Amino acid sequence: MRKPKVTVVGSINMDLVVSASRMPEKGETLMGDDFHTYPGGKGANQAVAATRAGADVTLIGAVGVDSFGQELMTHLEKQKVNMSLVTRKKDVPTGIATIILAENDNRIIVTPGANHSLTPEDIKKQEETIRNSDIVLFQLETPVEVVIKAAELAHQAGVKTILNPAPFQPIPEELFETIKYFTPNETEVKELTSGGMDGRLQKKLIVTMGEQGVSYTQDEQSKHVAAYKVNAIDTTGAGDTFNGSLAAKLASGSELNEAIDFANASAALSVEKAGAQNGMPEKEEVEKYLQ
Ligand code: ADP
Repeated sequence: MRKPKVTVVGSINMDLVVSASRMPEKGETLMGDDFHTYPGGKGANQAVAATRAGADVTLIGAVGVDSFGQELMTHLEKQKVNMSLVTRKKDVPTGIATIILAENDNRIIVTPGANHSLTPEDIKKQEETIRNSDIVLFQLETPVEVVIKAAELAHQAGVKTILNPAPFQPIPEELFETIKYFTPNETEVKELTSGGMDGRLQKKLIVTMGEQGVSYTQDEQSKHVAAYKVNAIDTTGAGDTFNGSLAAKLASGSELNEAIDFANASAALSVEKAGAQNGMPEKEEVEKYLQ
């Protein structure tokens, strides 16, 4: 049987995480306690989740010609994500997120680097891959013009699209036509609908609500599914696991309610383990859990 084909157009970052006893003051140099690097970026995370959920995943994105870029390429290839369409951009650094953990709080600066150098022309070159996908999945860590172009190509070819509108920014008009499902979390949905609910949007919304579960509309009916009760250790990447799993399951031809149930279980299992990509379960594990 052929595996479902998911294409993710999205970001690839290295997360640089420092932990310290407290946040530094302005102008202060503080000794940290620990330092780790973790592969991240919403695009890469969702690509890994969709791969574990059983899809054949191609990532379209960009990294720099530097050591983080190389490390991320090798890591994601090892995770069985097809990286052949990732561009190595000269003169820009690989995207990074600098994260300081202290006093049960975090401060984060994301420097998009190569992720923001991706252009609609880069997307045009990958038209065939987009047209031959079962699902194309997006987030908003790449330039919105890139999302617009790729969603247009997918829509023209009758390929379903999902946009995880994170981090939030206003959604350009054309995406209301070319995107099939929007998957905001509770904070993002407030921003998305702050100017009033767009009539075209309501039936396309799949809202993730952390430990409250998921709300969506199917056949004009509002539905809510509760989250699975798990021992939550680390909710980082729960949304990414949900989106990647949802894309893989829809790409395999499942109905919306079945795909949401699978993604809800997959995301619940992921919060039982530390780390974003580290906690993402394999398809078999989710199926066993759902039995
Ligand atoms: P984000 O990580 O984007 O903020 P959410 O917090 O809404 O997204 O989480 C996404 C999904 O992950 C939820 O809809 C749910 O399926 C699952 N999830 C998140 N937190 C928990 C939890 N504590 N227990 C069970 N499932 C959870």
